[in-house]
Formats: sequence, structure tokens, C-alpha cells
Amino acid sequence: MNTGLTPDQLKLQAQVRELAAGPVAKRAAEVDRTEQYPWDNVELLKDAKLLGMTIPTQYGGQGKNWLDAVLTIEALSAACSVTGRIAVETNMGAISAVMAYGSEEQKKMAADMVLAGDKPAICITEPEAGSDANGMTTRADKKGNRYVLNGRKHWITGGGVSRLHLIFAKVYDEKGTFEGIGGFLAIRDETKGLKITKREPTMGLRGIPEAVIDFEDMDVPPSSLVIPPRGLKKGFADLMNAYNSQRVGAATVALGIAEGAYQLALDWSEKRQQFGRPINEFQGLQWKLADMSIKLSAAQALVYNAARSGEGGFPDMLLAAQAKVFTSESAIQVVNDALQFFGARGYSRELPLERMARDVRMFTIGGGTAEVLRNVVAGALLKKKLPQTRDGWGKASE
Ligand SMILES: Cc1cc2nc3c(=O)[nH]c(=O)nc-3n(C[C@H](O)[C@H](O)[C@H](O)COP(=O)(O)OP(=O)(O)OC[C@H]3O[C@@H](n4cnc5c(N)ncnc54)[C@H](O)[C@@H]3O)c2cc1C
Repeated sequence: MNTGLTPDQLKLQAQVRELAAGPVAKRAAEVDRTEQYPWDNVELLKDAKLLGMTIPTQYGGQGKNWLDAVLTIEALSAACSVTGRIAVETNMGAISAVMAYGSEEQKKMAADMVLAGDKPAICITEPEAGSDANGMTTRADKKGNRYVLNGRKHWITGGGVSRLHLIFAKVYDEKGTFEGIGGFLAIRDETKGLKITKREPTMGLRGIPEAVIDFEDMDVPPSSLVIPPRGLKKGFADLMNAYNSQRVGAATVALGIAEGAYQLALDWSEKRQQFGRPINEFQGLQWKLADMSIKLSAAQALVYNAARSGEGGFPDMLLAAQAKVFTSESAIQVVNDALQFFGARGYSRELPLERMARDVRMFTIGGGTAEVLRNVVAGALLKKKLPQTRDGWGKASE
């Protein structure tokens, strides 16, 4: 299929596919079974210069574009979704927000940490504030020349393995006046008061911890606050704009998992014989394969298009939301269909299909649910702020 990739991108894709099919694929089942973060894969990504590839060259990265990162994530996720997610979070999301809006000091620190192998954590969601992020109650109170943070976040990817954290909190001045939602940088094991208090027992994606993080009088200097050019009041919207890159990344992981599952089903359909012929000679399965490939092609086009829209900035909010909704839902269907091709074997833990089915299920939830992203799409189409939307794009209200 002609996807309009440059010769350099085709080369990158081939390089990552080789890495994915080799050492990454070999470890995927073990990563899931042991629930251990794959530090050895982090080293592989680092050696292959796939960590922090979107970081500008002046900070030690390669200044690669979103589509380069997407090609990398897609190929890795077909073999190991956890490794694909590491590629997302070392190239998009928190790191991209810091690289776009941070001070020189913040950019240098974040770039150095990521290039050395750290996967930053982005801390937005709270037990009582999920889709409605504006309902967060974690607060940062200005006290003299410090900010003191208190509150709880949950479902934070990388909690316990990530060192750099970008933490969102409601900021109050010394008089207790609300100033806006700000993003603070803190480092686990260095910043006092940042405590990992629980690991969530997840359905899939088990090699990467999801954690509850408590902030107990976490004391940071004002220099840890990432302030976008529009200031603290409107800054949350800017920081959430950076999150559009992570949404495209999440869609890409789902796409990669589904492509991996589809390929397994395609190969098996030729090998497996019933009624004296390969099962791909039955029209019921031929049409399933056709539908799977149509969904994958459409999803890939949406994801690549959203990535391309971010040239020189961040991916377009509407395109990123459309890509994530369609890709996450289609990927679940494709993986489910792929599992069906294997009959009983598909249900066994000896094959990767059941792991893929558990892993892919996450992507209509994390990083904005499919329902909430449909609100984003509708809001953009109607050019209205819908009452049921997260107000992060507009005003950060109390
Ligand atoms: C594996 C995983 C990793 C994650 N990683 C991170 C992370 O690193 N950092 C982070 O900050 N968060 C993270 N999250 C949290 C994630 O972003 C939230 O789970 C998500 O935003 C939804 O919030 P919630 O779970 O509280 O669901 P709720 O907001 O309580 O939603 C419950 C249901 O109501 C629906 N709903 C809510 N509002 C609306 C509406 N306005 N219109 C229609 N339907 C609506 C939702 O779609 C959902 O079906 C992660 C989650 C998962 C599962």
C-alpha cells in the first residue's frame, strides 16, 4: 500500500520492524506474565535511537516528526504493546509538552532524562476527576518562594518506574486565590512528598505499572512550574494541546496490536486445514479478513493523517480525536476477529492473541474515552463548546 512515506521513513520502518520481530517479540509474553517493566527493551530502544527521537537536536534528540514516531510505535506494538507504549511516552505527551513550553532548564533536564531511558509520567486523572479533568482537587499553594502540592492521582502510567513526573494541579496564590491549572515537574525519589501508594491490578498492558500517586506536602520551587506562553490561566488548554500527540500515539499502539493480530490470523488461515482445505477457503473467513484489512487501512490513514497534521506543532485536536476513536474501536474488533481464527488455540495463553485482546481493550478508555472524544469531535464540527466536554481546551474554571 502506498502510504506516502519518504525513503527515510521506509528505512526507519524496516529497521524498527526488524527489532520488533526479533528481541522485542521474544520477550513480549514474559513481560506480560511477570508484569515486569522491560528495562532491557528500553536499552534496545535507546541504542536504536528510538527514545526521545522527537526531541529537538539542540537538546540531544533527533528532531524527528510525529509520523516518524508513529511508524516506530506501530511496528513495536505489533510485537509488544508495552514497548510500543514506552515509545509513545518517551516521544509524546509529557515530554512533548515540556519541549514545547518548558524553560531552557526544564527542557534540558527532561531531554537528558528521557534520552538516558526515563519514561516520563503524566499525572492528570484523579479518583473523582477522570473525564472531567477540571474537577481535579490536587492543589498547589504558593507559600513564600515555594509551591506546596497536596492531592491524589490514580491510573498514572509508569508510576513506580518513571522518574520525571508532570503533575497537574490547581494553583492558588498566597492569598488563596485560584490562578489556573498548572503543570509541575517533579522527580520520584528526589522530590519529597511524591509517593507511589498502589499499583493497579490491570487487565492487560501488564508490563507497565499503573499507579496511585499521593502528594503529601510536596514542596517544589516555582521553577518547576511549566508555564506555556498564554500563562497560567489559559495554560492548561495549551498543555492539553500537547496531549493530542499522546492521543495519536495511543491510537498507534492500538493499530499496531491489531496489525500484529491480523497478520497472525492471515498466516494461520493458510496453515490450518479443516474439511480438507485451508480455512481461508471458507467465504465466512475471507470476508472477515477483508473487513479486518479495511478497518486497518482506514485506521492507519486516520492515524498517519493526524500525525502529519502536527508538523511544526501538535496534531490537530479533531483529527487526533477522530483517529483515536476509530482506531481504538476497530482494533478491538480486529483483534477479537483474529482470535476467532484460531478456534480454541486463540483462547490459550500459549498464543499471543488473548494477551493482545486484553491489551487492546484499554485504548477506548485511557487518554480520553471514546465517548468523551466523540464530544470533542462533535464540538469541533459544531464549533461549539458543548456543556458535556472537558473544559480543558477553554477556560480553567474553579
Ligand atoms: C491503562 C490506563 C492508563 C492510564 N494512564 C493515565 C496516565 O498516565 N495519566 C493520567 O492522568 N490518566 C491516565 N489514565 C486515566 C484515563 O485518562 C481515564 O481513565 C479516562 O480519562 C477516563 O476517566 P475515568 O476512568 O475516571 O472514567 P469516567 O470519567 O468516570 O467515565 C466513566 C464513563 O462515563 C463516560 N463519560 C464521562 N463523561 C462523559 C461525557 N461527558 N459524555 C459521554 N460519556 C461520558 C466515559 O466515557 C466512561 O464510559 C489511564 C487509564 C488507563 C485505563
